[in-house]
Amino acid sequence: MTAVRREPAFLGMPPFPEAAHHALADRRLRAELRDTSRTSRSRRAEAVDELPPFVWEKLRRAGAVIKDDVIARLPDHLEELEGSVVAAGGTVHWARDADEANALVIRIAREHAAAEVVGVPAATTRETGLDDALADAGIRVRATAAANAGLTVRGADFAIAETGTVCAVDADENGLRSVTLPDVLVTVLGLEQVLPAWRDLEVFLHLLPRASTGERMSPYVSLWTGVTDDDGPRGFHLILLDNGRSDVLADRMGRQALRCIRCSACLDVCPVYTRVGGQAYGSVPPGPIGAILAPQLRGVNRHDVDAQTASLPYASTLCGACFEACPVRIDIPAVLAHQRAQLTDLGRGPARHREKAAMSAARWGLAEPWRLGLAQHAAALGRHVIARMPHVLAGPLARWTDGRDAPAPPPESFRTWFKRTNGGLDEGGSRDEVPGDTDDETAEGPSATPREEP
Ligand code: SF4
Repeated sequence: MTAVRREPAFLGMPPFPEAAHHALADRRLRAELRDTSRTSRSRRAEAVDELPPFVWEKLRRAGAVIKDDVIARLPDHLEELEGSVVAAGGTVHWARDADEANALVIRIAREHAAAEVVGVPAATTRETGLDDALADAGIRVRATAAANAGLTVRGADFAIAETGTVCAVDADENGLRSVTLPDVLVTVLGLEQVLPAWRDLEVFLHLLPRASTGERMSPYVSLWTGVTDDDGPRGFHLILLDNGRSDVLADRMGRQALRCIRCSACLDVCPVYTRVGGQAYGSVPPGPIGAILAPQLRGVNRHDVDAQTASLPYASTLCGACFEACPVRIDIPAVLAHQRAQLTDLGRGPARHREKAAMSAARWGLAEPWRLGLAQHAAALGRHVIARMPHVLAGPLARWTDGRDAPAPPPESFRTWFKRTNGGLDEGGSRDEVPGDTDDETAEGPSATPREEP
């Protein structure tokens, strides 16, 4: 099996721990991240708190239900979307991966003899590395602000299957200009961004601005449907991008990542992201959602992945703040744990020799009771040393105590105590009592005196 990388990481990106280490040394970056994330968190909290009780939670659940329906019946919704777009005078293209998507944009640009295009920054075009591909093809990319005609390439947030309408919630008026002024408009959309019906959009127009920028609604919502004779672009192309999404669908736990509406709320509450920033992840998108989506798009549930990809599911404390913030209730910590299991149990990450050696030693030690007893006896002999120096373990265990103290082993293991005291009976206990199951906080393990009955 060979590693497949469909989505480009930032060039030369090392695994997350190394990249995070460098980012942590940048004090200015940390100060900026602290300020911006604090501001975003409080704006979002205000926007959510002003809603009547339970309304936000109801909206979150509605968003999750709609997205889950999309994921469950994706081929049907996409087929309907294609029919609606074509009926409205547009053209639909299907791209299996980033290269196909970029090749389609280049072909459309050449068909219109466009030596330059206007590129509106978007998650999908960053995912495919479109700017570099256009540059390689000799096509210049201009910023949105300078645009007034020609061919524009952009992303969007949603596409409505029943009408063929594409919707974008932008940060400023440039987004609106980009869908009205060009002669030819190309939109690159992830497969999962389809919504079944027009009424579903209402839920997301409540969720997205509040979760993203803390606004009640966005003043920059653009909606466009095919072409009309007297207004807007003459050509309307919709590129539907797979790029690993079909593989994500195959994973029952991981597929919830496809609910993501790219609001960034999970980034601003993440104790890891708010200290190291987005660059350290080397993924599009970054942060907690990137940590679960990028490995899936790169195929972690199907084959081996590279060291940088394999490091992403570990870029988290599993504190759960991202789930609480997510407007579509993606259980990011659960997916992270699931992917860690995929990487270790199925051996899909690069081999870590020390970890493998430690697991082999543990397997040998736990295979026979006498081996475990020997290890416990040895640990009990060393307990005074460990109690005095809890942060200094020897050999391969030394790195474990880099960030935590080692607890001193008890003087006697449970098994030894059980044998010595006949299960506690020789100490006056009864079979109904469980050693250590006591409200007395001063009790110390199996040798503590059993409580007397009142
Ligand atoms: S995963 Fe993150 S970016 Fe995606 S919808 Fe949830 S909070 Fe927003």
